[in-house]
Amino acid sequence: MPELPEVEVTRLGFADRIAGALIQSVRVGKALRWALAIAPEALAGRTVLRVRRRGKYLLLDLDDGLLLMHLGMSGSLRFLDAAPAPGAHDHFDLVTTHGTLRLNDPRRFGAVVFAADEDAPLARKLLGRLGMEPLDAGFDPDAFHAGLRGRNAAIKQVLLAGDVVVGVGNIYASEALFLAGIRPTLKASRISRPRAMRLHAAVQDVLARAVRRGGSTLRDFADVDGQSGYFQLEASVYGRAGQPCRVCATTIRQIRQGQRTTYFCSNCQKY
Ligand SMILES: [Zn+2]
Repeated sequence: MPELPEVEVTRLGFADRIAGALIQSVRVGKALRWALAIAPEALAGRTVLRVRRRGKYLLLDLDDGLLLMHLGMSGSLRFLDAAPAPGAHDHFDLVTTHGTLRLNDPRRFGAVVFAADEDAPLARKLLGRLGMEPLDAGFDPDAFHAGLRGRNAAIKQVLLAGDVVVGVGNIYASEALFLAGIRPTLKASRISRPRAMRLHAAVQDVLARAVRRGGSTLRDFADVDGQSGYFQLEASVYGRAGQPCRVCATTIRQIRQGQRTTYFCSNCQKY
């Protein structure tokens, strides 16, 4: 599943190229998770001003309205100078004067949705419950700590829930908690201020590193030019059960939390 770093890498891959482009036509293929919510031909003649990201949504600001894009479980976007005929899994084309933005999504859990603005009911439903943006300058350590204080669930679960901070998926949660020296099962409300500060820094660090390296490593990821962004993340704990901790050589353990596997070092993550 594309995580926040892949979505951000995707955004960086075409945002500058599509900015200022005039939409010429829109092709809609098989049904995606949600309907487009506007007649495709009504988008022709509008201009793409910029591409933002909120959580795992890409927001294409138009001169009239916006398009929300989500990659779902298996979606990927490419920006093509000259688009070939669409393949079986190419379910959306935004044809512009600068190139064609094409969504490929074999499992069709992704979506492209039009909204008049971010206050429109559907946009509010999709974006309204998202937590703070971890890669924004406005990601405030004190606000992060305050968000954790109100939650009695295990810190790993609170990170995954996305309503305190967005985009910390399963890999990044395990890695950030290791960096911060925090046991994944600790109740979020019991995390001290110094540890919350360390976790805040660790979340920024793991996500920023993943963006820099072109996305996560654990699946094949094609960026907007179709080049592989696949790389080997030097995971400290994720996927390393039974292997020695890179810091202290204690055997890395795995546990189940919710429906997800968590990896940690019982020596480096005591609290
Ligand atoms: Zn260790």
